[in-house]
Amino acid sequence: MTFSIHGLPVARGIAIGRAVLMGGRVDVAHYFIDPAQVDAEIARVREGRNAVIEEIHRLQHTISAMGKEAPHELSALLDVHLMLLQDEDLITGVKHWIRERLYNAEWALTTQLEQLSRQFDEMEDEYLRERKADLEQVAERILRYMKGVASPVAPTPRRKTQQDLLLDDSVDVPLVLVAHDLSPADMLQFKQSVFAGFVTDVGGRNSHTAIVARSMDIPAVVGARSASQLVRQDDWVIIDGDDGVLIVDPSPIILAEYGFKQRQAELERGRLARLRHTPAVTIDGLKVELLANIEMPEDAPAALEAGAVGVGLFRSEFLFMNRKGRLPDEDEQYEAYRRAVEGMQGLPVTIRTIDVGADKPLDDGHREEAHLNPALGLRAIRWSLADPAMFLTQLRAVLRAAAHGKVNLLIPMLAHASEIRQTLSLLDFARAELDNRGVAYGSMQVGAMIEIPAAALTLRTFLRYFDFLSIGTNDLIQYTLAIDRADESVAHLYDPLHPAVLQLVAQTIAECNAQGKGVSVCGEMAGDIGFTRLLLGLGLRSFSMHPAQILAVKQEVLRADTRRLEGWAQEVLAAEDPGKLLGQ
Ligand code: PEP
Ligand code: MG
Repeated sequence: MTFSIHGLPVARGIAIGRAVLMGGRVDVAHYFIDPAQVDAEIARVREGRNAVIEEIHRLQHTISAMGKEAPHELSALLDVHLMLLQDEDLITGVKHWIRERLYNAEWALTTQLEQLSRQFDEMEDEYLRERKADLEQVAERILRYMKGVASPVAPTPRRKTQQDLLLDDSVDVPLVLVAHDLSPADMLQFKQSVFAGFVTDVGGRNSHTAIVARSMDIPAVVGARSASQLVRQDDWVIIDGDDGVLIVDPSPIILAEYGFKQRQAELERGRLARLRHTPAVTIDGLKVELLANIEMPEDAPAALEAGAVGVGLFRSEFLFMNRKGRLPDEDEQYEAYRRAVEGMQGLPVTIRTIDVGADKPLDDGHREEAHLNPALGLRAIRWSLADPAMFLTQLRAVLRAAAHGKVNLLIPMLAHASEIRQTLSLLDFARAELDNRGVAYGSMQVGAMIEIPAAALTLRTFLRYFDFLSIGTNDLIQYTLAIDRADESVAHLYDPLHPAVLQLVAQTIAECNAQGKGVSVCGEMAGDIGFTRLLLGLGLRSFSMHPAQILAVKQEVLRADTRRLEGWAQEVLAAEDPGKLLGQ
């Protein structure tokens, strides 16, 4: 039966495919393995199951040695666990997911657990229904055992080859990932994989997970509440990333309608692609800089393909994720930054220093204590200044990469003059270290993100110390309005057009323009065509966004006349409800 679930649209487009459920256990790694590793992964699960069976046998032994003292319930429970473990459905199912879908062992086990749990839910008999909890405990024990045994397979993102596609009958149809939650690190794992779309139960429109989904340029919906409970493995689903809707088990009429929409979107893409080499100049002749936001050096070709004139934001923290506590050393970072610089073929690359914390945790093993208010805690530059050795390593790596092309350095989340001074003296120190070692490095412009209201209100200090500023509207909105950007329950209050936000953005642009300092917007507002005219009217001439958004924004720029937009933008700024003037 067809039904739909509403969430928040985060990445445009329509995806039609079969659902792949990623269980609620976000602590379990999910990645695709190589066909050659199938047997090893199956062996890992089998070994885990056998170890747990042995453990239960040992417990049964102990219990029978207790004689009459032994608690009868415990012994009955162990019998049930043994029965579940020996049930071939568990292993057969796990083998299916590993063999047919190339899931890693843990993912296959949790997927099969999900399948079996649903069968238990549907049982009439209450006693049998309650055995679901036992099944979960059994799977949990196997997972715990497997956690202690390292996987021989590295969890690296892997793009499927043509050969895989031929071997794997499951990819005849596109696959759509449905999960309770996905961290930015999870998303990164899937960045080069087969999924045609994503849906999550939780998350806000500007959470980092949503941002990565957008950068992958595939339809995505977050905040779809109970999607992962209601959708079943292999259900046919449609993700409507324009309207934020997930349609489950669509009827033939609905499928035809969305198939048509998909083709229309393709045609529109084709039309926009023609603008790739057209310079971004307004009707009144003003040149506008359209830059790309990237997460990995491998994103550089997509930026060039979209006609970006440089990288305005390289979120370097993604190099630090999924590394099980071992952070990249100076050489590894240098190679990555250099690849990005060379990948951009002489165009400038703005590398932002690590911005972890809040909704962008690294992974287990490295300063991952829970904080009460992570968004207000040890994040971004605060994290870097708390670990000068780690920060200096990054600064040296960026300086060295600057010898290979035009590099700008960008510092996130600054608010205090003392943090600015500390940062800049560490940068001097990093240069001195390279001098001492006789290692070559390049010169670079240094800029600051304006993403905390305190920074926007003390621009004079920032302009004294920095060569350029970049407005991070995602956080600026979050901190101005006290709205957690990752929390879907307050997503309706996350308003880029709130007069307070607009004031801070407008002041920053005007002040930089007055002093002849470069200023750009690199938050999601820059890539949303609903705001292009307003930002142009406020005097912005540099926008940084995901490559997939560049051509649509360019089209807006080509249609804009800033002489007309300036007065109108001032009216928007003065309005009580600016959204109305933008037709929102
Ligand atoms: C921002 O806050 O607008 C920004 C670009 O940084 P991030 O989204 O990575 O926090
Ligand atoms: Mg930010």
